[in-house]
Amino acid sequence: IRQKIVAGNWKMNGSKESIFSLLSGLLEMGDSNSEVVIAPSFPYLSQVNALVDGGCLVLAAQNISDEVKGAYTGEVSASMLGDFGVKYVLLGHSERRAIYRETDSVVAAKVKVALEFGLTPMLCIGETLEERESNQTLSVCERQIQVVIDAVGIEAFENMVVAYEPVWAIGTGLSASAEQAQEVHQSIRAFLAKSSESVSQKVQILYGGSVKASTCSALFQMPDVDGALVGGASLDAKEFIAIVKAAG
Ligand code: 13P
Repeated sequence: IRQKIVAGNWKMNGSKESIFSLLSGLLEMGDSNSEVVIAPSFPYLSQVNALVDGGCLVLAAQNISDEVKGAYTGEVSASMLGDFGVKYVLLGHSERRAIYRETDSVVAAKVKVALEFGLTPMLCIGETLEERESNQTLSVCERQIQVVIDAVGIEAFENMVVAYEPVWAIGTGLSASAEQAQEVHQSIRAFLAKSSESVSQKVQILYGGSVKASTCSALFQMPDVDGALVGGASLDAKEFIAIVKAAG
């Protein structure tokens, strides 16, 4: 039995004030059977950590450097994030891949560094609309995963989370249906099973892309959907709490 994870990716949003009020709302959530994760921008990690310390929310960062330390102006290292109580790090998000030109091999290098410093990577994968329409959904997802298997080995996936985020569903209001998500999640797990059956059964595979409280229940009932990575809807405490409750 895999524990569900509901993660909120706040992306580049918020201010001291808005984050304080969002957190005040979230802290009313109470206990949950799921692991509830929030990913604020770097400058707010310490503020958020102080407010949630020991509570029901777990911290994630949205990115790290693929270097360990040194002369890399503007970068943030995995060990720095560990200092601020960060447990997870989003890696390979489609916005990083598309806008900041992160290649598969950069993503794999980041996964390696994250694991070295005790962070749990949430490896984001997913196809564009064009790729889906030309039947490349699985080959794209498999390529994005294989590069990471080659870099860190299949066993490392026991300490990782995979997030399937079809690019066409991100920020578009156009969520994949529960059946579409299940189909891909099942194939991803089958692909992992080719390297290790036992690891494939343990890896939590989250769905991301226009997840909303009104539509997430069907998703969470799918056998291979182990939670959600939520963007826009995670900026509203009531909405996010409703998603957490739906996950059970
Ligand atoms: P939306 O939920 O806003 O579509 O964003 C999904 C996402 O990119 C989470 O990482």
